[in-house]
Amino acid sequence: MILYGNEEKQKDMEMIAKRIEICEKCPLNLTRTNAVPGSGNVDSPIMFVGEGPGADEDALGEPFVGRAGQLLEKMLKEYAKLERKDVFITNIVKCRPPQNRVPTQEEVKSCQSYLDGQIIVIKPKIIVTLGNTPLNYFTGESKITQSRGRFFDWYGNIKIFPTFHPSYLLRNQSLKKGSPKWYAYLDMRIIGIMYRALKQGKSVEEVTKTIEEKIKSLENAGGS
Ligand code: URA
Repeated sequence: MILYGNEEKQKDMEMIAKRIEICEKCPLNLTRTNAVPGSGNVDSPIMFVGEGPGADEDALGEPFVGRAGQLLEKMLKEYAKLERKDVFITNIVKCRPPQNRVPTQEEVKSCQSYLDGQIIVIKPKIIVTLGNTPLNYFTGESKITQSRGRFFDWYGNIKIFPTFHPSYLLRNQSLKKGSPKWYAYLDMRIIGIMYRALKQGKSVEEVTKTIEEKIKSLENAGGS
C-alpha cells in the first residue's frame, strides 16, 4: 500500500489494511493472492471507489494497476491535471472476485466496515464512483449513463459524483460527442476543477453548485 499525507491518518489507514489482509469474512479470501486495501493520499478531498481488484491488482496488492488502471491514471493526468498521489483510490471489495465477476451482496456487506473506516480516516468531500457497482452501493441507482455528471448526497455531507468505469471505456473507444469516453473525459476535467477549488478551501456546497452550471455549459459547448 502506497500512502501520502498526514502521518497519523496513514497509521490509521495501515491499521485498516492489516485487518483487510487477514480478513476471512467472505469466501473471496479463499481465492485471493493478495488483498487490495487501496492507495494514495489520505488528505485528499477526493476519493475514487471502483468495484473490486482484477488479476493484476490481485497479483500486486495495489488498486487499478492493470489496463483499466493505466487508463484511469492517463485520464487523471491529461484531463484532471492530477497525479495518482493526489487522490485516494480503493474498491468496494478488497479481494478479487473470481473471473472478475460482480461481487455478491454478501461480499459487499462483508467488506463494508473497511470502506467505512477508510472514509472516516480520509474524510473526503467528494467520492467519485467508477462504474455501476459503487454507484449502486452509494446511491441505490443502477444506470451510470443516467447518473453521471450529477451529485448525490451521502452521509456526513459527502457528495457522490458517478462516472464510467475505465474497463467500460476500454471496450467503448468512440470519442464522438455523447459517447461514454467523451463524457468520462468531461467528468475528469470537472474532477480536476473540483479538486483545486476544494484545496483552496471552498466549501463542497459552493463547489458543487458552480460545477453543475459548468457541466451544463461544457456539455453544450461540446466539451471544449
Ligand atoms: N477494476 C476495479 O474495479 N478495481 C481495480 O482495482 C481494478 C480494476
